[in-house]
Amino acid sequence: MAKNTIENNWRSATRLVHGGTMRTEFGETCEALFLTQGYVYASAEAAEARFNGEEEGYVYSRYANPTVTMFEERMCALEGAEAAKATATGMAAVTAAIACQVKAGDHIVAARALFGSCRWVVETLMPKFGVETTLVDGGNLEEWQRAMRPNTKVCFLESPTNPVLELVDIEAVATIAHSVGARLVIDNVFATPIWQSPLELGADIVVYSSTKHIDGQGRCLGGVVLADQEFIDEEFYDYFRHTGPSLSPFNAWTMLKGLETLDLRVRQQTRNAEKIADFLADHSKTNRVIYPGRKDHPQFELAKRQMKGGSTLVAFEVTGGKKAAFKFENALNIILLSNNLGDAKSLITHPTTTTHKNLSDEDRAQLAISDGLLRLSVGLEDVEDLIEDISQALDTI
Ligand SMILES: *Cc1c(COP(=O)(O)O)cnc(C)c1O
Repeated sequence: MAKNTIENNWRSATRLVHGGTMRTEFGETCEALFLTQGYVYASAEAAEARFNGEEEGYVYSRYANPTVTMFEERMCALEGAEAAKATATGMAAVTAAIACQVKAGDHIVAARALFGSCRWVVETLMPKFGVETTLVDGGNLEEWQRAMRPNTKVCFLESPTNPVLELVDIEAVATIAHSVGARLVIDNVFATPIWQSPLELGADIVVYSSTKHIDGQGRCLGGVVLADQEFIDEEFYDYFRHTGPSLSPFNAWTMLKGLETLDLRVRQQTRNAEKIADFLADHSKTNRVIYPGRKDHPQFELAKRQMKGGSTLVAFEVTGGKKAAFKFENALNIILLSNNLGDAKSLITHPTTTTHKNLSDEDRAQLAISDGLLRLSVGLEDVEDLIEDISQALDTI
């Protein structure tokens, strides 16, 4: 049986350990790290054939590299995608996935609640090149519908959103996008590939910052774009090859090792997050807790329909605004103050003064980012220790 046919029958956790592995003649168990820029040809004729595309093989690591290929193949196996290209960062993935398919005169529709840099790319960068952007309330399907134009080429959203963990109905937005011939791009970082499969819901392109759960241990930056073979070959590849947002082989190797434990980590971090969300919801020093896996989440029904599990993130608002939020953060002993997420270490951030500082007061109000809001990325520590840490810090408010 061909390798791909065997791999197609594997379940997700098995694909994460073995998917995409290519062994050299030495039969190494661990994926080899091909730290090389270029490749050597056996003859002038072989070089010509490689450049003509008549012979398969590597040419230059800006285009492709065996370690990076293994990471891309393993991501494809996990996501159920035909093709993928890995990038140096999540932002390189987002920018390339969008920019490769638009030209002056085209139009983008994006949800307003986006990771800060993603919003800058669609709201500020794209218009510089004559591509117009309309921002909509992601949860309002009528707004998506009204924003569509004949020249709309790309719809872009993340779900759950950062930091307030609101959901967008991916299946419904895909239908709206396709009605005008636009493609739907999903930033699936917050959901993770374990809990949400946008391609199955009708999305055309999925992007990740693999910096987050995929590395999962705070080491390397990376990203990946997944789609069908035609999109990667016809729309994405030339842009990627000539503009050079390629992932370093070393970082690809680190991400491959991260993928081996992704399923375990995300499941355990989610179990911890569920318990913390329940603890916070019952606490007198919190006004609100937002967690997609809880029945009191305003979109619990949608969460059940489009996600296979809750989230490793919890958002909550402490009573007493910024002053109380700072007091709480400064009293924490285990949970670290950091704007990163998806790490084995629990990390907390105050969006108003960090990740969402650059938004206007009006924008923040529109996105329900209040002064008392905190975003917690739950790690792999013992959940009882985390709850004790949160409890003693809330007592100081
Ligand atoms: C972190 C993040 C990005 C950007 O990824 P980098 O690897 O930091 O470039 C994009 N979208 C979301 C939702 C993120 O959390």
